[in-house]
Amino acid sequence: MKGRIHSFDTFGTVDGPGIRFVLFMQGCALQCKYCHNPDTWEMHAGRQMKIEEILREIEPYVEYYQRSGGGITATGGEPTLQAPFLARLFAECRKRWGLHTALDTNGFCEPSHAQELLNVTDLVLLDLKQINPETHIALTAQPNDPIKRFGQYLSEIGKPVWIRHVLVPGWTDDAKDLLELGKFIGSLRNVSKLELLPYHRMGVHKWQQMGKEYPLEHCPVPTDHEVARARDLIEQGRK
Ligand code: SF4
Repeated sequence: MKGRIHSFDTFGTVDGPGIRFVLFMQGCALQCKYCHNPDTWEMHAGRQMKIEEILREIEPYVEYYQRSGGGITATGGEPTLQAPFLARLFAECRKRWGLHTALDTNGFCEPSHAQELLNVTDLVLLDLKQINPETHIALTAQPNDPIKRFGQYLSEIGKPVWIRHVLVPGWTDDAKDLLELGKFIGSLRNVSKLELLPYHRMGVHKWQQMGKEYPLEHCPVPTDHEVARARDLIEQGRK
């Protein structure tokens, strides 16, 4: 069994607790205008790797992951597109080293498709892009109903979740939308952390390298004040 892998980072510190092996998987069904990894979108690109090959890359650093309370995080792209492969990889990481497993997902996935994977996942980092249905489609090219359903399913099964939301001026910072987002998050029973991530422009060069026009060319990065305001609005909605 092989997976399509974009790349990996052996010393990740921002995608889950502790120090982590971060596996960037190939393929994504969304096309977020602010995506900083557009080179992960194409399902048939990337490097094909066997589970054993990936385990060999993890092995030298296992002690760091264990001692720091870290583990492995699968991200992308969208890792649930390769759920059966990832389920086996996570199961093996748990069995061999007792590693903590995290899934960073856009949630655009039928719960039944991810069942086996969720059984061996300790933490889900669920990216909620935009709660407003029309703006979600304009921003990501896909509807958000399946994503909300996936979030509700995670709540029903009691899977630990961190919510991630990228604050993009003019796209995801409307007060009504943020209150509504907070309300949705408040309806979930399993959210232990909210990460509000300010939009950044670090992926622009990838769009240029790929000969794609960057859709948010004139979008500014949010100020600290705007980030604090957005957090307040989401928290108000959660109450
Ligand atoms: S879900 Fe993630 S990888 Fe996919 S387009 Fe959006 S930001 Fe990019």
